[in-house]
Amino acid sequence: MRVCVVGSGGREHALAVVLGRHHDVVVTPGNPGIPGSTAVPPEQLDADLFVIGPEAPLVDGLADRLRAAGRLVFGPGADGARLEGSKAWMKELLVEAGVPTAAYGAFTEAEGAVAFLDTMAPPYVVKTDGLAAGKGVLVTESLVDAQAAVHDYLSGAAFGDAGRTVVIEEGLSGPEISIFAVCDGTRAVALAPAQDHKRLGDGDTGPNTGGMGAFSPVPGVGDDLVDLVMREAVEPTLAALAARGISYRGVLFAGLMLTPNGPKMLEYNVRFGDPETQVVLPRLTSDLGELLASAARGDLGPAPTFDDGAAVTVVCASEGYPRDLRTGDVIVGLDEAAAAEGATVFCAGVDEGPDGELRTSGGRVLAVTGQGVDVAEARSRAYDAVACITWPGMLRRTDIASRAAD
Ligand code: AMP
Repeated sequence: MRVCVVGSGGREHALAVVLGRHHDVVVTPGNPGIPGSTAVPPEQLDADLFVIGPEAPLVDGLADRLRAAGRLVFGPGADGARLEGSKAWMKELLVEAGVPTAAYGAFTEAEGAVAFLDTMAPPYVVKTDGLAAGKGVLVTESLVDAQAAVHDYLSGAAFGDAGRTVVIEEGLSGPEISIFAVCDGTRAVALAPAQDHKRLGDGDTGPNTGGMGAFSPVPGVGDDLVDLVMREAVEPTLAALAARGISYRGVLFAGLMLTPNGPKMLEYNVRFGDPETQVVLPRLTSDLGELLASAARGDLGPAPTFDDGAAVTVVCASEGYPRDLRTGDVIVGLDEAAAAEGATVFCAGVDEGPDGELRTSGGRVLAVTGQGVDVAEARSRAYDAVACITWPGMLRRTDIASRAAD
């Protein structure tokens, strides 16, 4: 099969590598670190299967446009992508489907939002309804800060139109897990679970980021828990979508908190997570292309299989990430890292210099994945490969998966 992957980050590089084990792959627009990248837009490419990576084109209806042109597409239409495009709509659907989730209120006026906040206990959770590049969530112990966020969001000052509806939630606590469910409109199958590290600094300190590393499997998250999430969350959600006439064919990425009262759904994303993809997919031992194509056809094939080992990915980021980035530096040591035992380098924020050298061009530049028989071996292989790589001001955490490796 010829497969077209849409997107340009580390997630798309991982999709391309794993799809490439069995199929021809083209990536649009990709980046200079991803072989098979092309600037030709997806609408003008010929492929047997299109896999759309990021949420923005999904929310924008790219899957619908490609399907209307007769293409086979893995990725929800704009109707299903609303799960990520509108948190208020997602919460409404979760409640309708009976999926355990934090209590909430959705508001377009400050007065009602502030009155609702007064009824909540800390931590206060304030979210933009719309897409805000992963930055629209505030979790704070301070009622004053939460009230200020409500005003900043609703006025449009903080996130433009994305914040003109706010969602205020009950603050939950507990470890978080991510589960990817591959859906064919009515049925779903889970991939191996993963956990990511959202904070910039070691010891989970510093600002929230898109993710500084991840690992799979997750100690303590066994088949029982995955089955429970599929039964009590993913399947009822698919049924609620179907009841609204939405045939959801793509990934439902369930972000859950394991609270003392059981797992609760924090959010759905409508695409593979980054950097979780860089640890989940490399562990696949079955054919990813066949799995995604069968889901895209509405005829989900056999359950995927995974190796018994582990994968750990460490993100290398530009100085200043996640705020003011220093970019344009030459990345040294990529070939050595890629040749390190059990390691794969996935390129995200990179561009090409005049002599073909790769330079930093974004916040998260690389995700370096190590694989091994267990988390400890995978972790040491990932860090051995990271040690080969350098550029001025490169940031990386030193404690990715350290607890899981114990
Ligand atoms: P979201 O984009 O909705 O997943 O939120 C981003 C992060 O904010 C999550 O990964 C959690 O760490 C935190 N968060 C979101 N909702 C809640 C909540 N109701 N209670 C506590 N923390 C939350």
